[in-house]
Amino acid sequence: VHNVETLARVATLTGGAAVTTQLLTFTTPTGQTVVERDLDSTLAAAAAVAGVASPSNVLLGGYGGTWHRWDSVSDRSLRSLGSIISAGIVLTLPRETCGAAVTARVLRYLAQSSARQCGPCLFGLADLADVMDRVASGRGRRGDIDRLQSIAASVASRGACHHPDGAVRMLASALDVFAADLANHRRRGHCGRRHDHIVPGEVAA
Ligand code: SF4
Repeated sequence: VHNVETLARVATLTGGAAVTTQLLTFTTPTGQTVVERDLDSTLAAAAAVAGVASPSNVLLGGYGGTWHRWDSVSDRSLRSLGSIISAGIVLTLPRETCGAAVTARVLRYLAQSSARQCGPCLFGLADLADVMDRVASGRGRRGDIDRLQSIAASVASRGACHHPDGAVRMLASALDVFAADLANHRRRGHCGRRHDHIVPGEVAA
């Protein structure tokens, strides 16, 4: 990522100094908070500094990252999370918020962010967002999860850049982490959680 932090770290490494901290951007329903923590800090400790209290799940590495159950990563050090946490963008999911709905919003955001030059990206990401939105809003059809996996397989590694690959990676982790909730969406039309707007940058479809 060619941003200010990267350039600052390149300068630090060029000077022979070791990088011992990481900048983390925590996204919560109330906004974004940036904290800098030692690489040996746990994710939970960093979250506490950012004012985040015990989410249910967390999206690590930005919108093209991967969903994880909070309990599976909270005690790990930032150093051990390494490439999973990537640029340090952390979207925390409150326990009362529907992960399927948030995943649908992230997919929609990624579809809208396509440069619209490659077919798999232009059509595939929009299709993924449409199907996931249908599932999340209780209008899912028989076979929609298989449909998501099929579309994802047809999109993966076929763009001129890796933008669609991030969307596919995020979706695959969502289907795993939110499997029980998605089953409830199929059976009952919902999982009982709120559809909060917690995805920064999303615009109306
Ligand atoms: S895959 Fe990359 S280059 Fe192709 S349309 Fe999507 S964002 Fe643009």
